[in-house]
Amino acid sequence: MNRNEQTGRRDFLQRSLAGSVAGLTIASTSHVMAQTVPHSADPEITNDVDVLVVGGGTAGHVAAIQAGRAGAKTLIVERNSQLGGTTTTGGVAFPGLFDAWGKQVIAGIGWEMVKESVELDEGELPNFAKVPQHHWQNQVYTNQFLYAILAEEKCAQAGVEIAYYEFPQAVTRTDEGWQVDCVGFGTRRRVRCKQIIDCTGGAEVVGMLGLPRLREEERQPGSFLFMLGQEHQPGRNQIHRLYVHGADSTNSRTATEANLTGRKSILAKVRREGKRLMHLQPETGFRETYRIEGETLVTVNDYTSGRVFDDAISYAFYPVDLHTKTGVRPKPLQPGKVPTIPLRALIPKGSRNIIVAGRCVSSDRLANSGLRVQASCMGMGQAAGVAATLAARSGSTPLEVPLSEIHALLREHGQIVPGMG
Ligand SMILES: Cc1cc2nc3c(=O)[nH]c(=O)nc-3n(C[C@H](O)[C@H](O)[C@H](O)COP(=O)(O)OP(=O)(O)OC[C@H]3O[C@@H](n4cnc5c(N)ncnc54)[C@H](O)[C@@H]3O)c2cc1C
Repeated sequence: MNRNEQTGRRDFLQRSLAGSVAGLTIASTSHVMAQTVPHSADPEITNDVDVLVVGGGTAGHVAAIQAGRAGAKTLIVERNSQLGGTTTTGGVAFPGLFDAWGKQVIAGIGWEMVKESVELDEGELPNFAKVPQHHWQNQVYTNQFLYAILAEEKCAQAGVEIAYYEFPQAVTRTDEGWQVDCVGFGTRRRVRCKQIIDCTGGAEVVGMLGLPRLREEERQPGSFLFMLGQEHQPGRNQIHRLYVHGADSTNSRTATEANLTGRKSILAKVRREGKRLMHLQPETGFRETYRIEGETLVTVNDYTSGRVFDDAISYAFYPVDLHTKTGVRPKPLQPGKVPTIPLRALIPKGSRNIIVAGRCVSSDRLANSGLRVQASCMGMGQAAGVAATLAARSGSTPLEVPLSEIHALLREHGQIVPGMG
């Protein structure tokens, strides 16, 4: 190495060192700045909306799309990573039942989405004109992955904003409706809204407000869905499932417990049967959680007799379907009977400006075992979307909106209203 080379190398080393020291200085400065941010109590984002939908599952995304289409400024807050809830994340991608006794009884947005996703997936739709021998024959095999993406597209088209990985932490009543403070990782959001639609499955917002909820000591088992030894064909075949007894979705600790128990059982099964695990849903599907105590309660007698409530907003159709430790023996409905869902079963008793939709509908345990299915949850979601939108528009509550207006808007958006043709 000559002298010039030596000087050049020394200069280079000094420049490099200076550069890295400067780099370190910059890095440590930004580190210090980043640490100061979380100490602020202010939300980073504020939304002023007409309707806040909490939970973007089976009922929730339909409620939000309906509210958006009817002109309400709508935000959906979902604690998971996609829309669809039990239908997609839970993997129960065989929604039913949209038909009863040879004709369609639930249509609207839920059906539009199921139909469109099946057609795009080149799948098969059941023939509703034919009364099946077994109820499950008219469940619709749906591609869970495609369905979740389509739901996002429909929300975007309806102008619905989506906030994933967030959930409400505090809910406060205001003169105009609600202030809902939500958290997500690295995010604090304040939502000011006129109406809340609680579609969390277990009526979590209703619980946060201290309004009464119902739940028995004994619950139906949850299930983990997976595929062992054969490929999962989304939208084509049934998926394997394994009971998770005691599954409880009350909070993150009990849900963690259910997931750990379910996955442990699947690992044991893999070892026992020596087959490859080809597919596994990310979390346990919960059949039974909290229901609200509503302005009315649907009893199993109302359900099986096909009572047409004065304020019916949707049909429901499925056997009474209570899973126990030893399995399930569905009790089909008597020929011609088609249950209905009253608006008042979606309204928490004594509440204002909040409505629910989904499996948390106010009902006794046996009625709920039939009402909880997906087509019925979608029907409730659409009705809740309509009622909340009309209430936000008129500055009233979902219960005060004239039923005729709810029915008219539901029909305008393609839903079948009981007793109206
Ligand atoms: C194993 C199993 C098999 C089933 N079989 C069938 C069947 O064959 N056919 C059928 O039609 N139905 C079936 N069902 C019933 C049906 O799938 C569910 O009852 C229905 O999907 C529930 O819809 P939901 O909208 O009430 O709740 P979900 O679809 O569970 O949606 C709740 C959503 O809220 C979100 N959430 C919860 N808490 C919060 C919070 N605090 N903040 C933000 N987001 C929150 C969740 O992440 C989820 O996305 C089955 C259910 C299970 C579990």
